[in-house]
Amino acid sequence: MLDKVVIANRGEIALRILRACRELGIKTVAIHSEADRDLKHVRLADESVCIGPAPSTQSYLNVPAIISAAEVTDAMGIHPGYGFLSENADFAERVEDSGFVFIGPKSESIRIMGDKVAAINAMQKAGVPCVPGSDGALGDDADTNLRIAHEIGYPIIIKAAGGGGGRGMRVVHSEAALLSSISLTKTEAGSAFGNDTVYMEKYLEHPRHVEIQVLSDGQGNAIHLGERDCSMQRRNQKVVEEAPAPGITEEQRNRIGAVCVNACNQINYRGAGTFEFLYENGEFYFIEMNTRVQVEHPVTEMVTGVDIVKEQLYIASGEPLRLKQEDIVLRGHAIECRINAEDSKTFMPSPGKITRYHPPGGPGVRVESHIYSDYVVPPHYDSMIGKLITHGDTRDTAIARMRGALSEMVIEGINCNIALQMDIMKDAAFQAGGADIHYLEKKLGLS
Ligand code: ADP
Repeated sequence: MLDKVVIANRGEIALRILRACRELGIKTVAIHSEADRDLKHVRLADESVCIGPAPSTQSYLNVPAIISAAEVTDAMGIHPGYGFLSENADFAERVEDSGFVFIGPKSESIRIMGDKVAAINAMQKAGVPCVPGSDGALGDDADTNLRIAHEIGYPIIIKAAGGGGGRGMRVVHSEAALLSSISLTKTEAGSAFGNDTVYMEKYLEHPRHVEIQVLSDGQGNAIHLGERDCSMQRRNQKVVEEAPAPGITEEQRNRIGAVCVNACNQINYRGAGTFEFLYENGEFYFIEMNTRVQVEHPVTEMVTGVDIVKEQLYIASGEPLRLKQEDIVLRGHAIECRINAEDSKTFMPSPGKITRYHPPGGPGVRVESHIYSDYVVPPHYDSMIGKLITHGDTRDTAIARMRGALSEMVIEGINCNIALQMDIMKDAAFQAGGADIHYLEKKLGLS
């Protein structure tokens, strides 16, 4: 078993990883920027190392500083969390080349999945259903591109192979706009991602975002933990997530879950991962694979009883998967609301000092957050300051508990989106279940 782990992240996920390590008797090293000395997990870790100034390029993305921190503290492994370096294949490679365990997949897997064209190719080979599209990168020949789009049928979406975080995509509704949109997306992708490869997909007009959580040990054993629905999005950013996805039958779950498990075995995947799909008219269409723990992992934990971060640590320690598919039984329903330090109306980030904080509680309520009274939310990082998760026997109970929890939660001194989340929990379409990925923006009057 790993004996000491560097937590190469901050905020709620750093605390989450620390808690999992502590349960397994693994010592922890918190690395942090100069702006993050007061983070909760820094106080709780066995050791801590300041690795640089506040901007993440000089701290949480500073590879040599992170590797040195692992060296000076004599750690065995590095957990990247999500965001920052978690899906950086070069980082994973550097970690392993320096003699540490990267708590995640092999760098080759990250590299393939980080290039969406390569990922789609690998998935098609493994029998995973993908969105009808260009079957690879678009070339420069105008007639060929016009023909491909015509065959797919408008509307189509042009996507950057190196894109991420909802950036590097452009929807095209008619032939007249195709060629200029391709060259615009190429130029943008080149400057934003250093890779101007673009490809084309059918633009699905009313899909839901449904994703499958997998665990795979890289030794031939893989399972899935069912699905999550993350259709409540604003600007391609998830706002609310839930498990299971409303309306997905056990038969559908088993079928798409088996496809993902098979793909894990084919690519010899190691670690926790998520296959993201768009779901429309009863069909699943693969869009990308995330090769790390996800923000929304707790909803799956609540309905399966599996601690995904602990399983990541076991897998990274070289243990064969401890769970079998038949061990995974879904119980009840779980919902997660992301709590962001932002203005409820303008969505502008709202950093600053939290003058008063009361977390909610009670049956079926879980709070994943690093904040406390007098904590100062720094302006340098993502605005998410925590996650509120509720679980109940039924979806209605989980929603009712979420409404109760949101009404109990007090965060003063900064603005946050508790009111928006309450609005969503009271929304008739959300309550009915199965709203598409555009629903929230329409509700907010943003599209
Ligand atoms: P990223 O890596 O930037 O998150 P994804 O490929 O996961 O990019 O797409 C992000 C979001 O963009 C999806 O959740 C969906 O809302 C929208 N999207 C992507 N591809 C399509 C498509 N073919 N049709 C409709 N919407 C899409």
